[in-house]
Amino acid sequence: MGENAERMYRGRFAPSPTGPLHFGSLAAAVCSWLDARAHGGEWLVRMEDVDEPRCRPHWGDEILRTLERLGLQWDGPVVWQSRRVQAYREALERLKGAGLAYPCACTRREAAGRYSGRCRNGLPEGASARAWRFRVPAGRVGFSDRWQGWCEQDVEAEAGDFILLRADGCFAYQLAVVVDDAWQGITHIVRGADLLDSTPRQILLQRALGLPQPLYLHHPVAVDGDGRKLSKQNRAPALDPSWDGANLRAALAFLGLPPPEELDRNELLPWAAGRWKQRWVAGAQPAAPSFSASPGPKDWSAR
Ligand code: GLU
Repeated sequence: MGENAERMYRGRFAPSPTGPLHFGSLAAAVCSWLDARAHGGEWLVRMEDVDEPRCRPHWGDEILRTLERLGLQWDGPVVWQSRRVQAYREALERLKGAGLAYPCACTRREAAGRYSGRCRNGLPEGASARAWRFRVPAGRVGFSDRWQGWCEQDVEAEAGDFILLRADGCFAYQLAVVVDDAWQGITHIVRGADLLDSTPRQILLQRALGLPQPLYLHHPVAVDGDGRKLSKQNRAPALDPSWDGANLRAALAFLGLPPPEELDRNELLPWAAGRWKQRWVAGAQPAAPSFSASPGPKDWSAR
């Protein structure tokens, strides 16, 4: 990281290319872009295609074209996680070397929900390793989220030892995201609150690997009429190019910045970056969300 103020902020948008951009992922893209631009920082795009069976390169290309069309210009080359497997392998080796990763023979069915720790002290007789897990330390992990306030979780009690390398040979999101955020020098992570309960796991991995902890902002997630998170699994509709202006306006309103009617489509993002700066960078208080927002996982204590 350089010495000038502009380089003190590096953010990112990290979509998984399992489908086109929908309103929920647009909100994450716009929010992370605004925060980076309002800080005079850099905004990188990383394609999280580590879960190869679910991802398709053409969806990644389509997401990039949509970002460009909307005026969400990124800095530097796009990183594709499918090309970063060696780095994940090295991180896993380091964790193994430190005694913080262990092989697990449990099937998905046996390990559903919180992991019991069955393979923590060695594989059962005759069983062979299918996956690798992280040995989660006891105790609560807390962090101060710029939007949600103080959040903490007892990862050991609520999730248990989580997967680092899956039985199908894919590295887990939790490991890949931590390795790449550090490698890319990300200082600020801005993403949806559906990922709040991943953050303590990621902090544990940062600590175990000796990596810096970025600052976090988890914005509320967009929900459909039935209160379900908008996601590709829930068949959230792709963004219609003929509605780009309206979609951008809706995303900004969702993030607490409803644009004035008279602004042209091209003025929306510069206007919003200025407003975001006043609200989020110049020491002002977080916006009270005025829209339907999922409260996040039940176990979260915010104080
Ligand atoms: N790839 C993840 C997703 O699309 C987001 C990862 C992140 O922002 O940390 O849900």
